[in-house]
Amino acid sequence: MVKAIVGACWGDEGKGKITDAEAARSDIVVRFQGGSNAGHTIINHYGKFALHQLPSGVFYDHITNVIGNGVAFSVENFIKEISSLEERGVPKPHIVVSDRAQIVMPYHVAQDTYEEARLSSKSFGSTKSGIAPFYSDKYAKIGFQVSDLFSDKEELYEKIDHVLGIKNVLFRELYHQPELKADDVYNKLMEYKEAIAPYVADTFTLLHTAVKEGKNILLEGQLGSLKDPDFGIYPMVTSSSTLAGYGAVGAGIPPYEIKEVITVVKAYSSAVGAGEFVSEIFGSEADELRRRGGDGGEFGATTGRPRRMGWLDLVASRYGCQAQGATCVAFTVLDVLGYLDEIPVCVAYELDGKRIDYFPPTSQLKRCKPILEVLPGWKCDIRGIRRYEDLPENARKYVEFAEKAIGVHFGIVSNGPARDEVIYR
Ligand code: GDP
Repeated sequence: MVKAIVGACWGDEGKGKITDAEAARSDIVVRFQGGSNAGHTIINHYGKFALHQLPSGVFYDHITNVIGNGVAFSVENFIKEISSLEERGVPKPHIVVSDRAQIVMPYHVAQDTYEEARLSSKSFGSTKSGIAPFYSDKYAKIGFQVSDLFSDKEELYEKIDHVLGIKNVLFRELYHQPELKADDVYNKLMEYKEAIAPYVADTFTLLHTAVKEGKNILLEGQLGSLKDPDFGIYPMVTSSSTLAGYGAVGAGIPPYEIKEVITVVKAYSSAVGAGEFVSEIFGSEADELRRRGGDGGEFGATTGRPRRMGWLDLVASRYGCQAQGATCVAFTVLDVLGYLDEIPVCVAYELDGKRIDYFPPTSQLKRCKPILEVLPGWKCDIRGIRRYEDLPENARKYVEFAEKAIGVHFGIVSNGPARDEVIYR
């Protein structure tokens, strides 16, 4: 049984927490896209963690964690994250890295930084982790696969020379930066080889065997539908697909085996980086929601940047769930809204004077304005409640209003940041 946990909107929906809660029932947890630019917050009995690249199953001894072939694999961050878990008393996790995953090189990080500086005010708000240059190189066929680390020296140098022939034109002419040297790249690759050799595995065969044996496999997405390069707010998107369907590609699992797609929707909206955000709010209204949001405020788990805030956008969330092929919604951070007398919700958009209820491509989205409806608040703390019937009536009405508009069963309602703060319906 393969299940995916993915985001409906801009990311930061609370996927880490839901994955951590679901992981207990899994044998394998897989990261299949993105890289260490992610930040999944997990709070459990070891403490509070922001996982960047490691799958969220690392806290369980019975789970095999897989870094799939679709991931932008940063060796340095991987090693750093593993040791930081060990330093905080987490038992050594079981992790394997696909031999077909590709490696984020230091020059990708440098290129990301140079490009953001070149774009200046038009920058993408990149986390400068090298993700965009990494995926560009992957599809330009000048990336290094983990398996390349085990090639012989001559073969590797030949590949490095080919890659640098292209990279150095860019570094010299576009960015006016020092050229890369083949020996430096080779030495770095050898350093990586030594660090990750114990983790490298044929994860394609591992996962196919696990599927055949009926194991429970959890695919863990990064970001959300609106950051998908095809269906998101292009060009302010990430560089790998954020959709559950991509799990088939980024992990190497038959697509028809993904039976359940839990799509995480937040009870309000937040986004990081630039890009369209129709239900965005500003000023003191936004500051208050940001301060109260999530666990200790809505600030980037990787960058610490204040997140942009907005009301629940049912147009974007419905579209995001469709793009994911959601079979179930996990509705998170409901508890945060308990301070509001009334809660505005974006129910449709106004585009050139007309009401629309679909999510248009970016060129039209830019001109959309939110049409809000206001629901009554419940004005109390709902943390600690474990049964849906015990939620205040207005909180239930809020959940059911969103559920009806999105058209997917809300099977999970999350009312607190900790692992066990969930209500199953
Ligand atoms: P992810 O990238 O989708 O995993 O989301 P993040 O970890 O970046 O952001 C979600 C934030 O909300 C984190 O601080 C979580 O601890 C927190 N969180 C998740 N679910 C809930 C919830 O139901 N209530 C509250 N108050 N916080 C939550």
